[in-house]
Amino acid sequence: MILYDFDYERPGTLQEAMSLLRNSGVDARLLAGGTDLLPNMRVQNLKPALLISLGAIAPMPPQAGEDGSIRIDALSRLADLENSDFIRREIPLLAESAHAVGGNQIRQSATLGGNLCQETRCLHLNQEHDYQFAAPCYKRGGDCCYPYPGNKPGSCWSVYMSDTAPALIALGAEVEILGEEGTRSVPAERLFSGNALTPLLIARSEMIRSLIVPAAPAGFGWGYHKSTLRGGLEFAMANMAVTLRLEDDGETCAAARIVVGAVSEGPLRASSAERKLVGKALTAELLSEAADDASDEINPLPHHGFTRNYLRENIRVYLRRTLTAALERASGGII
Ligand SMILES: Cc1cc2nc3c(=O)[nH]c(=O)nc-3n(C[C@H](O)[C@H](O)[C@H](O)COP(=O)(O)OP(=O)(O)OC[C@H]3O[C@@H](n4cnc5c(N)ncnc54)[C@H](O)[C@@H]3O)c2cc1C
Ligand code: SF4
Repeated sequence: MILYDFDYERPGTLQEAMSLLRNSGVDARLLAGGTDLLPNMRVQNLKPALLISLGAIAPMPPQAGEDGSIRIDALSRLADLENSDFIRREIPLLAESAHAVGGNQIRQSATLGGNLCQETRCLHLNQEHDYQFAAPCYKRGGDCCYPYPGNKPGSCWSVYMSDTAPALIALGAEVEILGEEGTRSVPAERLFSGNALTPLLIARSEMIRSLIVPAAPAGFGWGYHKSTLRGGLEFAMANMAVTLRLEDDGETCAAARIVVGAVSEGPLRASSAERKLVGKALTAELLSEAADDASDEINPLPHHGFTRNYLRENIRVYLRRTLTAALERASGGII
């Protein structure tokens, strides 16, 4: 399918980009790497009248703050993050999750901000068939849902598949957003509405400027896993990120974050499984119980041919392994 006609601007500064976004008077979208937006335009899920390319604006390199936090420019390419010695040393969980996205060619263009603001996906929505033969579904403004016709009217089960979002939530990152009123900051997990029709709590006149990742405390460990049918160039069937912090005794859990993505309208925290760990000595049995609890709690949406039961089992098994890896790192076992 050939792209329809649209206008295109390539501002040289963020201020110009924001001014165009606010004042163009048409349906305008920011174009970062274009690896999510352009395919969505090709199948006409999105039809902006104006694309504002961010390609002429160079991202700032990652910067460490006085409190040890690290500020990452949202325009950073995923390939630069995964290959940065600094990021691999200071925020290896982020480097790992960036590496999990698509394939190398995609990651050379794709940005962190674009990864967070990607559209939700479903097997019907992302087909490259000619929509003139099919009525639009709820997500495209129509009044039906093809894969889940028995669902409550108006409910969309497309899933949000960012590989970096679970990692940023597990890290407790803050998102800095530029808007008409200036800059606002929200925890990464508050970016998501839980409604697949409007999955992001960020206005179209706003732009993610940067991500701020707090310093890793002593006794910190992390784990990450992405399940796919094949090794690479593939969206997740499920992805998960875990962070743990141990008390000075090296055994007791002081804090835990367990985040599962790609199985619902936004990444989900397994809060009751997290609570099960905090204040206890972490044993293999306890981690296994927490993984069991989390897979029940998460209640994944079936998607792309994976059934709810299959995804629940996937989460149970891989979360146990991801928690084990996080504990080993927190105890200094693996790097
Ligand atoms: C073959 C293929 C495989 C893929 N595999 C994966 C995968 O495994 N995992 C995965 O997570 N993704 C995958 N993707 C999707 C996509 O490549 C990534 O999500 C990528 O990180 C998107 O970033 P981008 O810079 O290209 O975003 P764009 O396509 O430029 O933008 C995406 C959306 O974000 C908005 N946007 C961009 N930057 C900002 C900003 N700073 N502030 C506010 N809004 C912004 C845009 O307006 C647009 O709506 C894949 C895509 C393809 C084509
Ligand atoms: S799940 Fe959502 S995007 Fe997919 S067909 Fe149904 S309404 Fe459309």
